[in-house]
Amino acid sequence: MGDFVEDRWEWKLTWRRTFFYHEIDNVAALLAEIESGHIHQSSRDFLWWKPDPNGLFSTKSAYKVLQEAHNNADEDRASKIMWRLKIPPRASAFSWRLFKNMLPTRDNLRRRQVTLPSYSCPLCEHEEESVNHLMFNCSKTRSLWWEPMRWVNRVGPLPTDPKNHFLQFSQWNRQSSTTKRWELLWIALSLSIWHHRNGMVFNNQPFNPEKNKLKRLLKRLALTNPLKLLQEHNKGLDQTYLREVAKEKKHKLLTMLECDEHDARP
Ligand SMILES: [Zn+2]
Repeated sequence: MGDFVEDRWEWKLTWRRTFFYHEIDNVAALLAEIESGHIHQSSRDFLWWKPDPNGLFSTKSAYKVLQEAHNNADEDRASKIMWRLKIPPRASAFSWRLFKNMLPTRDNLRRRQVTLPSYSCPLCEHEEESVNHLMFNCSKTRSLWWEPMRWVNRVGPLPTDPKNHFLQFSQWNRQSSTTKRWELLWIALSLSIWHHRNGMVFNNQPFNPEKNKLKRLLKRLALTNPLKLLQEHNKGLDQTYLREVAKEKKHKLLTMLECDEHDARP
């Protein structure tokens, strides 16, 4: 297996056969991994459970490892569905940041050591603002999701993390050709919530979905094809791109996916 040469362990591996071409990358990865470990002549070997800082195995830490792997798989699935949609690049970029929890919500800014007068949700002031809370759990936004659920007679709690929430929406009417309408609606609504939240934070605009255009937007989406999403607040969108997609798909692709000029601000 190997020897110590001047206090440094050198691996001497013997192999039962020569490698196939397709195995060489795996062998190189294995060698790099075992080379990265430090073997000390004076220390005894012991077992160390890496996911726990104490090195001790616990079912809790094993569960966490499995859960993280599961979450990554969900994120991949949600991202794959989203990237296939014909939507403006800024809408895809927004959705991707939402799935990755990379929007500058107040909890994320706190983690990045940005000092703010308050880290509470600007809509309800009851909880710290996280993307899960703001989008799906806040008393001001929850009911906005109930509205489209009523159209398909769905009730009950939905997941509060964006990728699972999105997957739940995309699973409705799976057999129907309208599936993509739900995915588009989901992105349009999340983007709209984020846009209105920024209007409130940066321009002191009121957030009142009962009266403002969010409610009207949902009503119109109920009646029209979400591909014909509103173009009322499209400042900054790439019009040439929209026209190209519309031509290609033979649709009038009117897009409401509202742009967010405040995304880059802390
Ligand atoms: Zn809130």
